[in-house]
Amino acid sequence: MEIKQNVALAEYTSWLVGGPAEYFCLPETIEDVKEALLWAQNSKQPVTIFGGGTNVLISDKGVRGLVVCLRRFSGVESKEENGRLVVTAMAGTAKSELLKIFLKQKLAPALFLAGLPGDIGGGVVMNAGVAEAFQPREFVEITDWVEVLRLESNGQFTIQRFTKEQIHWEYRHSKGWQPGVIVRVGISWPVQVDTTILDQVRSANKVRLSKQPLDMPSCGSVFRNPTGHKAAQLIDGAGLKGYTVGGAQVSLKHANFIVNLGEAKATDMWQIIEHVRNTIKQIRNVDLQTEVVRLGDW
Ligand SMILES: Cc1cc2nc3c(=O)[nH]c(=O)nc-3n(C[C@H](O)[C@H](O)[C@H](O)COP(=O)(O)OP(=O)(O)OC[C@H]3O[C@@H](n4cnc5c(N)ncnc54)[C@H](O)[C@@H]3O)c2cc1C
Repeated sequence: MEIKQNVALAEYTSWLVGGPAEYFCLPETIEDVKEALLWAQNSKQPVTIFGGGTNVLISDKGVRGLVVCLRRFSGVESKEENGRLVVTAMAGTAKSELLKIFLKQKLAPALFLAGLPGDIGGGVVMNAGVAEAFQPREFVEITDWVEVLRLESNGQFTIQRFTKEQIHWEYRHSKGWQPGVIVRVGISWPVQVDTTILDQVRSANKVRLSKQPLDMPSCGSVFRNPTGHKAAQLIDGAGLKGYTVGGAQVSLKHANFIVNLGEAKATDMWQIIEHVRNTIKQIRNVDLQTEVVRLGDW
């Protein structure tokens, strides 16, 4: 596997912003992932992992050390077992592949997966989910286990399996499995065929298209919904739709999205985030927390 130097990262993110990785690789197999981690340990470089890049804000200054992008580390198997559809996926498998499997079997998880970009590993890390009252609606409900690869300081690799119960699932985050790289995910759902699933997916997609600026680069919702509030309503209520810094703008269509108008910098995004946060604190006394994860040197 090639480890390249000075690779522009913007094109690997859905926001299309951010500077270069000092070193960069795209592993395709578990052996490639191990090679990357060992290379970084031997060269004393820090490691940054990401998947689909749909929930990260990469600094304009870039990321020091080795950046490992898992989107080619993909592959998925499925079978029926004891009345459940059981899926095993490499972490870099796109959620859309999982969607296809559930859609083919006419099973309920297709409905929430249809709204989610990025990889399956990123879905577990973020406990990705939708606001609608679907069942299931978050990754915690479909995940049975994850396998986490670690390189110990003595140069030995371990792969530890964490069951769903051993992971601490929170709203748009999971913990308890760190440190390490999620390499495989086990998912299952009862085989209860619903012949209306495809129609439901189509109408949910229509609603999403009408409410979200899906034709512009974004990272989805920037802020988590604070308890008792909807972030989008707070931002809209503060008159911040359309607020612009450089090439970044609070979407006119959905106030919790910040869109790249074309030439945005990561610092434009961050300035908007700070402005929105300060404004909402000032006028509503609510602390907004970002859902999006900042990577690199800030
Ligand atoms: C248009 C749009 C709509 C969206 N709608 C929604 C929505 O409705 N609901 C929702 O929850 N999210 C939504 N998102 C956000 C995003 O798609 C999800 O959070 C998604 O699950 C992130 O997956 P990813 O592979 O892109 O993760 P990345 O952005 O690549 O990474 C996210 C975090 O996970 C870490 N990470 C990723 N993979 C691994 C791994 N294998 N091992 C260890 N760490 C890892 C990264 O270091 C980073 O901290 C949306 C995004 C966009 C662009």
